Amino acid sequence: MNNIRTRMAPSPTGEMHVGSLATLLKNYAFAKKNGGQFILRIEDTDKEREVEGGVQAIQEIVRRYGLDWDEGPGKGGEYGPYIQSERLDIYKREVQTLIDNDKAYYCFCSKERLAEVKEQQMASKQPPHYDRHCRNISVDEAKKRVAAGEDYVIRLKVPADQEITFTDLLRGEITFHSNLIDDQVLLKSDGYPTYHLAVVIDDYLMKITHIMRGEEWISSTPKHVLLYQAFGWPVPVFAHIPVFLNPDGKGKMSKRKGMVSAASFLDRGYLPEAMLNFFMILGWAKKDQEEVISLEEYINEFDPSDLSSNSVAFDIKKLDWLNGVYIRKLSPEQLKEKITPFIAADFPADKIEQVLPLIQERLVTLADFNLLTKFFYGEINYETDLLLKKADSKEIVIQELNETITLLESLSDWSLTSLEEAIRGLQEKKDWHRGQFFMMLRIAVTGEKATPPLFETIMVLGKDLVLARLKTALDKLA
Ligand code: GLU
Repeated sequence: MNNIRTRMAPSPTGEMHVGSLATLLKNYAFAKKNGGQFILRIEDTDKEREVEGGVQAIQEIVRRYGLDWDEGPGKGGEYGPYIQSERLDIYKREVQTLIDNDKAYYCFCSKERLAEVKEQQMASKQPPHYDRHCRNISVDEAKKRVAAGEDYVIRLKVPADQEITFTDLLRGEITFHSNLIDDQVLLKSDGYPTYHLAVVIDDYLMKITHIMRGEEWISSTPKHVLLYQAFGWPVPVFAHIPVFLNPDGKGKMSKRKGMVSAASFLDRGYLPEAMLNFFMILGWAKKDQEEVISLEEYINEFDPSDLSSNSVAFDIKKLDWLNGVYIRKLSPEQLKEKITPFIAADFPADKIEQVLPLIQERLVTLADFNLLTKFFYGEINYETDLLLKKADSKEIVIQELNETITLLESLSDWSLTSLEEAIRGLQEKKDWHRGQFFMMLRIAVTGEKATPPLFETIMVLGKDLVLARLKTALDKLA
């Protein structure tokens, strides 16, 4: 096979959708697998929809996910520039060859005229399309009108009565009829290319061999194929990637049902590695069916023709599970580094390292830290009744609390073994009901029914805080 070159071509129109990142990963992996190049190109020809800082944000989010590009903004490359607004001369030059070869034409129709035509078509129940009013104006006349200062656009001369067929790696052959395709605008009156023109010229000039993009572009592809033909260029391989469905499996994953930006997931404490792994297994499976997959393994095995053409739900439960898997793989140092941005500002810094191993197992996202650790400092609140659960009488609980306080006050070694020995010893000696006693103790020192292991928790809380809380519990019962 020739040198494989793939690309992602986002527009700086807002935060990148998780679906786009999943598509980007496929392009990245396929290029790497084949020793080829992955190109990042910014498609910023729609200045009205561009958001401030959008170009920068695209690069940042790709890097936050731990990925990178071989050619593109900030990196350069043989086929640059990689930002479309810096390539306007190239589009003008290329579109001129289309005019010279009678494949495109000048159109002088005003907005008002186009609106009128559309209205008439709608009234007679026809699909709206350009009525080809300017298609037969001679180039000489058109040039005169341009020189006289008339506004114009350039349109593609779509050939009549042709079948346009292309192969999609996931779906096989797809055919459209040229009579249903509009004489689309290629160059706008402001001198900017349309998406269709720019994408074809750039993919060709940047030597892209495989175009993997969202399936919402399928209906644009015949227009692109017509353009490749008009230019006399070979058509690349297409793979249109299905969109994600909402977690409930209903409808296209959209903002209405929750956050969808690639950044928002990282901001909520999902690890980039877990996200990438999740993207890998949505609509694709490793041969051995293993679901925890490293980027390296994925690169070795991924082939776009194995992708399912069915949309799959963005299964948050599976993502949560994977995120837990990746969190548990982190070393203490890595966990501390990654979780630090999520830790509440008033959490006692000297306790972080001791607390992390106690909660690592239970973290679903990094952002769970605060919920799982809030009892390690500050006030705790709980219903007094919880202290009395399973106890035969209030008096027994008061006795248990009193004796535990006396024991711990005199305990000089506050280590895990010493605490465990002393407290277990007391419970056995007094023959208190084990389940009842330890649940009561847990409530008294943490205010919660589910916590990390009790003795570790008591150790990390420290003597002063534990004694203070036991005394508060006594007061509550008094
Ligand atoms: N600029 C288009 C987008 O924002 C690129 C589509 C394509 O990959 O051809 O998604």
